[in-house]
Amino acid sequence: EEIIKLKKVSQHYKMGDSVVYALSEVDLDIYSGELTALVGPSGSGKSTLLNVVGGLTKPTMGDVFIYDTNVKDYSENQMCLFRREHIGFIFQSFNLNPTLTALENVTMPLIFARVDSKDREKMANDALDLVGLSDRKDHKPGELSGGQQQRVSVARAIVNKPKIILCDEPTGNLDTKTGKEILELIKEMNRVNQITFIIVTHDINVANQCQRKISLQDGKIFNDERN
Ligand code: ADP
Ligand code: ADP
Repeated sequence: EEIIKLKKVSQHYKMGDSVVYALSEVDLDIYSGELTALVGPSGSGKSTLLNVVGGLTKPTMGDVFIYDTNVKDYSENQMCLFRREHIGFIFQSFNLNPTLTALENVTMPLIFARVDSKDREKMANDALDLVGLSDRKDHKPGELSGGQQQRVSVARAIVNKPKIILCDEPTGNLDTKTGKEILELIKEMNRVNQITFIIVTHDINVANQCQRKISLQDGKIFNDERN
């Protein structure tokens, strides 16, 4: 069953007199529960594709369907609510709030999604439990190692129980061993909770462990293979 569908999606940027084609008529189906790596040289359109799928960028042309909804039909406000409910994000640089504890960081998406305050703490604690960080929940990001910070951001991404999580270089700031641990965690979330992951990565080891590897070049898909 397709969970994400792109139909002839193009993204153009005007740069003075010239136009940059960040994405050029991309057709893509992502199936529910897939673990997909998105690879390609710098400037090939990976981040743009991730932003389009996540509803952070509206494409210049084409259609993006998530479930059966054409994202075009959403206002900015509706898109924001939809994103908060259905899509999680994990970044290279963790993007945690440095003034908040791990538990508070993980609680933030629940506040945005207007989850009842009495349910929030249990949900956030459960998510931190799943990533093996319960004993660090009262620490701030600066008191945690890189690997632990990325675990907090995994917990923050899963706390709403989204069906889709988009990752931009999730192991990019981690040493090899820690990167492997984070990938194992992602694989576990994919397997156990049937979360659909799209992972932008330069790390060939990460890409090779995904079920599907999509290669972009000049804004087009030039290879799409399953392991
Ligand atoms: P990647 O993530 O593969 O490095 P990007 O999606 O970031 O690629 O960029 C694809 C192309 O679009 C690049 O040529 C980039 O310079 C251009 N681009 C991306 N975002 C913008 C923007 N906001 N304005 C102008 N050009 C952009
Ligand atoms: P990991 O292998 O999980 O990345 P490290 O070996 O980097 O962990 O860190 C070991 C321990 O030191 C961890 O329990 C972590 O919480 C703690 N630690 C790491 N960096 C800092 C820091 N900047 N301030 C306080 N404690 C830290």
